[in-house]
Amino acid sequence: MKNLVLLGGGYGNMRVLLRLLPNNLPQDVQITLVDRAPYHSLKTEFYALAAGTTPESHIRVQFPGHDRLKVVYGEVTNVDRSKQIVQLADGTDVAYDDLVVGLGCEDNYHNVPGAEEFTYSIQSMKKSRIAYDAINSLPTGATVAVVGAGLSGIELASELRESRSDLKIKLFDRGPRILKNFPERLSRYVQKWFDSNDVEVIANSDITKVEEGALFNHEDRIDADIIAWTAGIQPVKVARDIEGVEMYRGRIKITEHYHLPVDEHVFIVGDCAHSDVGGPSAQLAEEQGDRIAIVLQKRWKGETLPATLAPIKLKGFMGALGKKQGFVNLGNSTVTGRIARMMKSGLLWMYKHQNG
Ligand SMILES: Cc1cc2nc3c(=O)[nH]c(=O)nc-3n(C[C@H](O)[C@H](O)[C@H](O)COP(=O)(O)OP(=O)(O)OC[C@H]3O[C@@H](n4cnc5c(N)ncnc54)[C@H](O)[C@@H]3O)c2cc1C
Repeated sequence: MKNLVLLGGGYGNMRVLLRLLPNNLPQDVQITLVDRAPYHSLKTEFYALAAGTTPESHIRVQFPGHDRLKVVYGEVTNVDRSKQIVQLADGTDVAYDDLVVGLGCEDNYHNVPGAEEFTYSIQSMKKSRIAYDAINSLPTGATVAVVGAGLSGIELASELRESRSDLKIKLFDRGPRILKNFPERLSRYVQKWFDSNDVEVIANSDITKVEEGALFNHEDRIDADIIAWTAGIQPVKVARDIEGVEMYRGRIKITEHYHLPVDEHVFIVGDCAHSDVGGPSAQLAEEQGDRIAIVLQKRWKGETLPATLAPIKLKGFMGALGKKQGFVNLGNSTVTGRIARMMKSGLLWMYKHQNG
C-alpha cells in the first residue's frame, strides 16, 4: 500500500482530500493526514477569535472520515527526504511515498528588534487565543496598536472596534493610503469606516523597534498596551528547513507540477509555496490543492503529465469591517457595505457546508 502523507490540514490539503475522497483514491493508496490540531482551523476567521467576537467552536471544521484516511495528531519537527519520513515531536516517524507540505505560514518580523518578543500574533489558533485573552483583559481606555494594514490587520482592527468600543485603536499602514494597490474607491470606503468608527490609521509608517508597552514609528515612540503584528508572513520554519528547498521571493520554489525541483515526491501547497498568481490566500491554496490532486491521480494511473497545468485565475478578495460592513473586490468591480459583508458570510457558510 502506498502512503500519501499530507502535512497540515489547512485550506490546501483540505482541497486535496476533497478531490481524492471518497472515489478518486486508488485501492493501493492510503492517506495519512498530520496536523497538530484535531480539526481544520478556519484561519481566515482568526481575527474574530482574537477580537472576541467569534467563539472557537465556530471556526473549526472536522476532518473527513474514510477507511483509507488516517489522521495523526502531532507536531511535525522534520522532513527527512533521503529516508522519506516525517518526524514528529513525540518521536513518531511517518513514512511517505508522496508528501504534500501544507503547513502554512508564520509571522515575518523583518528583523525589527523586539517585534517577535513584544507583539501578539494571529497566525495560529493557539496564538490567536493568547491574543484574545490579552486584548479582552485590557482595562477601559487602553491602547491597541495593530502593525500592518493588509487584509488581516484591517479585519482585526475593525472587529476589535466593534467588540471593544472603550479601547483606543491605532492601525499602522506602510502605504500612503489604505489598500494602496487596489482601487481608490475601496481605499476611501475603508478609510471612511475607520474615521467614523474612531480607529486612527497612521499612513506611511515604518515600525523600526518594539519594546514592552511601546513601538517606534520611524523615530517616534508610541505607547501601546497591546501590539498586534500583522505585517508580514513567511512559510513555517519546518518547511523552510526541508533539505534542498530553495526560496524564491520569500516562498518555497516549486515546479509547474507543484513539487520541489529536486524531488518529485514532495509537493508544496498554500502559504508555503511560491506563486506568480498572487499573494498567499486560502483561495490560492485551494486552487493549488486542486492541481496537486490532478498530478497525483495522473501519476497513479501511469498517465503522462501535461507540461503545464491549467493556469490559476483568482476571483478577487473579500474583507470584513466588523459584522455588518465589508468590501469585495472582483477584478474590475468593487462592492462595499452590508451586501459585501453578507457575501463574505455566505462564502464562509458555503465553505463550512462543503467541508464539514
Ligand atoms: C486574519 C486572517 C484573515 C484572512 N482572510 C483571508 C480571506 O479573506 N481570504 C483568503 O483567501 N485568505 C485569507 N487569509 C489567508 C489564509 O488564511 C491563508 O492563506 C490560508 O490559511 C493558507 O492555507 P494553507 O493550506 O497554506 O495553510 P493553513 O490554512 O494555515 O493550515 C496550516 C495547517 O498546518 C498545521 N500546522 C502548522 N505547523 C504545524 C506543525 N509543525 N505540525 C503540525 N501541524 C502544523 C496547522 O495546525 C494548520 O492546520 C487570511 C489570513 C488571516 C491570518
